[in-house]
Amino acid sequence: MILVSNITKNVQTVRERIAHAARLAGRHPDEIVLIAVSKNRSVDEIRSAVAAGITHLGENRVQEAMAKWCEVGSIAAWHMIGTLQTNKAALAMQFTDLIHSLDRPSLAAELARQAVRQGRAVEALVQVNVSGEETKHGLPPTELEPFLEQVAALGGIQVKGLMTIAPEGAPAAVQQSTFSGLRELARRVDRRGLPGISMRWLSMGMSDDFETAIAEGANMVRIGSAIFGNRSYAGGA
Ligand SMILES: *Cc1c(COP(=O)(O)O)cnc(C)c1O
Repeated sequence: MILVSNITKNVQTVRERIAHAARLAGRHPDEIVLIAVSKNRSVDEIRSAVAAGITHLGENRVQEAMAKWCEVGSIAAWHMIGTLQTNKAALAMQFTDLIHSLDRPSLAAELARQAVRQGRAVEALVQVNVSGEETKHGLPPTELEPFLEQVAALGGIQVKGLMTIAPEGAPAAVQQSTFSGLRELARRVDRRGLPGISMRWLSMGMSDDFETAIAEGANMVRIGSAIFGNRSYAGGA
């Protein structure tokens, strides 16, 4: 079991590190949204994080997230950050505020179809595989603009920005070029001015690399273990 006081302290420490990284980059700390990644964590741990001031939660599996949402409700904004199977899109849309993992035409088509059925637009970030790692999901950077044109034409999906994951344990220079690469892609897209496509959010940075991500322009960071403790020792894993 992880202690509640640890979560409180960890949230505070992470916030201080975010603020420090923001100031070093000449940015205001309030620009950066902290998403506490609560996958594999219990509902009690989620409640503790919310009591510590967390207002955004991130989950990577729809069913697990749905079960938690059914228990605690919208005590925070819910972010779907993991790969989304097409047949779970409708379920995810029922309770998530932002999907970070729009990464293929078939998923876009299903989200658009559900948006029509549910009578409301769905908000999503497009996940880009900037580093080109084979194990990573996400669109290749060269396919981003044609994909966004397709999404804009579909309607029903409001793209709010981009998301990426840096290679695990990569040297700082590789992390940095991954994050600056996403920022530059967003800049290029922004100049196009496609309908329904905004580049408001850059979701990048996790426990091990969020300071580098903030230096490169991240304004959403997804942080799990630095808040809830190392996964192998935590209660829920
Ligand atoms: C698990 C996960 C995170 C958080 O990872 P930590 O290293 O525990 O901070 C962030 N983003 C995604 C997509 C994840 O799956």
